[in-house]
Amino acid sequence: MRTIWVLGDQLNRQIGALADADRTTDRILLIESTAKTTSKRWHRQRAHFVIASMRRFAAELAEAGFEVDHRRASSLRAGFHEHVDEFEPDVVRATEPASWDGLEMLRDLDVEVVRSNQFLCHYDEFAAWANSRKSFKMEDFYRHQRTRLGYLMEPDGEPTGGRWNFDDENREPPPKGDADPWADPQTSQLDDIDREVMADLEAAASDHGGELWGAEPDGTWATSRRAALSRLRHFVDDVLPQFGPHEDAMVERSWHLAHSVLSPYMNIGLLLPGEVCDAVQDAYDRGGVAINSAEGFIRQVIGWREYVWGVYWLWMPDYRSANVLSADRPIPPAFTGAASTEMNCVGTCISTLHDKAYNHHIQRLMVLGNLSMLHGVDPWALTDWMWSSFVDGAEWVMLPNVIGMSQWADGGRMATKPYAAGGNYIDKMSDYCAGCRFDRKKRTGDDACPFTTLYWDFLARHHDRLVKNPRIARQVRASERLSDLPAVRERAVEVRRMLDAGEL
Ligand code: SF4
Repeated sequence: MRTIWVLGDQLNRQIGALADADRTTDRILLIESTAKTTSKRWHRQRAHFVIASMRRFAAELAEAGFEVDHRRASSLRAGFHEHVDEFEPDVVRATEPASWDGLEMLRDLDVEVVRSNQFLCHYDEFAAWANSRKSFKMEDFYRHQRTRLGYLMEPDGEPTGGRWNFDDENREPPPKGDADPWADPQTSQLDDIDREVMADLEAAASDHGGELWGAEPDGTWATSRRAALSRLRHFVDDVLPQFGPHEDAMVERSWHLAHSVLSPYMNIGLLLPGEVCDAVQDAYDRGGVAINSAEGFIRQVIGWREYVWGVYWLWMPDYRSANVLSADRPIPPAFTGAASTEMNCVGTCISTLHDKAYNHHIQRLMVLGNLSMLHGVDPWALTDWMWSSFVDGAEWVMLPNVIGMSQWADGGRMATKPYAAGGNYIDKMSDYCAGCRFDRKKRTGDDACPFTTLYWDFLARHHDRLVKNPRIARQVRASERLSDLPAVRERAVEVRRMLDAGEL
């Protein structure tokens, strides 16, 4: 018999090697690796999400008549060798993995690798597109994808609604007051599988020196295809109509707003990007969704998500060590839960992260990522922390988003300018500052907003590099003219010390 080895982020019958699997000739292998589950300080809900999804998928395959070897092993390699020794398969096949190291491992083990169809644009196709141009950016790729895939396109080849991009309608600040117009996410009842997974994870952490953090699973994250499809229907019917306008807003009263919270399912295969976009296109065609909401969502999936996937493979493995700003500080203790914080924006994000293993993209980019860049956190350390802390984390998604987009550690390959901002931006896009002990307008003094102080210090600290960048040169010139710049920089030294010490 042949073996088809299914990795933990390939949990779908339609993916790669599984697509043409045959019950009479193929045995399915899934391996839970203790080395993997104890390799990082995983958020409980992140670790549970992957392992519970693997166990349910293995059970679904067995119910469908496949012989399944779902084994636990000290490592993926050890599990592979144990399986081969026991079953002596004619050949072991696997779908191309989502990570560079995963591909190296499969090649090393002589596993037959089947081309992945888990994304709409294979990374070979992305590389061909990128290498055919002098330079490229996400918007070019997005239009290429829209045209190629036909989402929100008219028969004459023009974009639906007459524009490619409705971003300017999707940056509204949060609605004032207590209004909470966003539908609650669906939840699932936890069952014996969930409880067993958590017990196993806690035991593995305790026996093998691992550490878990964050709240226990509460049913927020679906761990089966059936439940993930239900989450998709809920999003399209009840949430998508409100998706666009407040896409970039942050409010204390809602952790999800109108975000889809579907990324975890796409990232481990429970949902496929094509079926998600088809559902959104159908909803638009039926007239239930405005163009700015439909377009904003489709862009995130076929544009940004696939672009991130493509550049990960294009720029690896060197991309891991990009660090043009020579940032070398550790993750602030306020992020890890080792210290509390009086910064209301950070405290709100970290509290949500603790409870849900999730923050939406603006919280990641403009609060946690922004503060890390202004402070000078090591970009790989931040990548690794986000990878292990967020339910949708993976190296391919975190590296370009953190190293490139949020930390500008690649010097501008992903983002043409650093996403640096002081307290004013956070105040405009959130309701955090009103309840904070710091003053977003102040850059010196004990009550100065750390973001504002560090923003001006960041521009001064990296003056020579940033002043050459036309997209941020005006702000750098403005920092030169600050009469209190020496005092700001002095305060920044103290702020950075306090951040490292967990005193802010
Ligand atoms: Fe965050 Fe500064 Fe606003 Fe406080 S004042 S919530 S620290 S941006």
